[in-house]
Amino acid sequence: MSEQSPGWLMDGWPHIWLPYTQMQTADLPPAAVSTSGTRIALADGRTLIDGMASWWTAAHGYNHPHILAAMSEQLQRMPHVMFGGLANEPAFTLAKRLAALTPGNLNRVFFADSGSVAVEVALKMAFHYHYNLGDSRRMKFVAFRGGYHGDTTGAMAVTDPDEGMHRLFRELLPQHLFADLPTTPDGLERFKELLAEESHAIAGVIVEPLVQGAGGMKFHDPDLLQDIAGYARHHGALLIADEIFTGFGRTGSMFACDQARVVPDIMCVGKALTGGTMSLAATIATDAVYGAFLGESDARALMHGPTYMANPLACAAANASLDLFEREDRLGQAKALEAMLAAGLAPCRDLPGVEDVRTKGAIGVVEFRRKPDVIALRRKFIDEGVWIRPFGNIVYLTPALVATHDDISALTGAIHKVLSS
Ligand code: PMP
Repeated sequence: MSEQSPGWLMDGWPHIWLPYTQMQTADLPPAAVSTSGTRIALADGRTLIDGMASWWTAAHGYNHPHILAAMSEQLQRMPHVMFGGLANEPAFTLAKRLAALTPGNLNRVFFADSGSVAVEVALKMAFHYHYNLGDSRRMKFVAFRGGYHGDTTGAMAVTDPDEGMHRLFRELLPQHLFADLPTTPDGLERFKELLAEESHAIAGVIVEPLVQGAGGMKFHDPDLLQDIAGYARHHGALLIADEIFTGFGRTGSMFACDQARVVPDIMCVGKALTGGTMSLAATIATDAVYGAFLGESDARALMHGPTYMANPLACAAANASLDLFEREDRLGQAKALEAMLAAGLAPCRDLPGVEDVRTKGAIGVVEFRRKPDVIALRRKFIDEGVWIRPFGNIVYLTPALVATHDDISALTGAIHKVLSS
């Protein structure tokens, strides 16, 4: 610990339990004290250039004045009021805007408080949809190996069963059907067979469109998404697009589904929805899915209601974030980042141990043949003045969409330097 470490860091450390961390050997994390744009200031006086956008949330950079102003105004007026029985303007306005922004007739927005909960709602919604149509046998989901959908039980059950950190819980979880992403003609045949054989039992197919994020930043083509959507429909299964990572410009279009011109039956969004300020997510259903829940009896209704759902403060932040997408050319910036990341990371291809270097939108990835010491790499990146958090066998960048050419040069330069050392 350096001399400048604040008292709260050591005082709180014996009581903190960190995410995805073996606490016995965990380093004391660097103390972040303020953020601005693409910078994170540490308590010891150093400033890091941010390559992560805080787990892909801070699309406009940190502390964007427009979002802060909207939040301050909402904070004074009404930070929260329950959604069970009361309406609030930011949530109703946001629902209307999300319905307009998402493709096709995705018109009904159910708010949740985190991405994992949005996925839980989507799974519950899909099962209940079929039930309401008179088919109670459709209880299984098809999910893809390499996929990740969250850490709650239902979401874990559709996350990769071997690589998704949840292997230990396999017996505890509902058993679903896993397929490889059908990237080859043979793979597509196997996927078609699975759907045909099990169609009577399948409620939905859940996919992260174009990018499997936390499963290793693996990319696939829009054509493949179209195939998945087509076969799911053919067998009466709902298509659930988990856009929690890919949504809001990350892949270069507002939603990854837009690139494939696929309209899912249910779409989950979260993360960058509030521009990196507060936790908020949504499960968005088509008119047809929503319609199946209408009727005289409560038994047909969706029985879900997180305490903080549609939190006005978070919804005000999300509306302000959408203003910025409308006023400023974020999608153009995301596309420009793709070229900058590709050029900056290209020299890493020649480094020993590097298996692949790839980019899509504002995502840049260096993949290793073997899993490196990611904790040691993280320390070295901090020494280079950048915040980059490698995991598994990848080092990746998902910077704010407003990152400049200089930011990207610094980030990619640091990666090349650290991996060369
Ligand atoms: N789905 C995807 C694709 C994600 O990337 C994540 C978070 N990494 C989640 C769901 C879960 O979101 P949250 O952490 O907000 O629960």
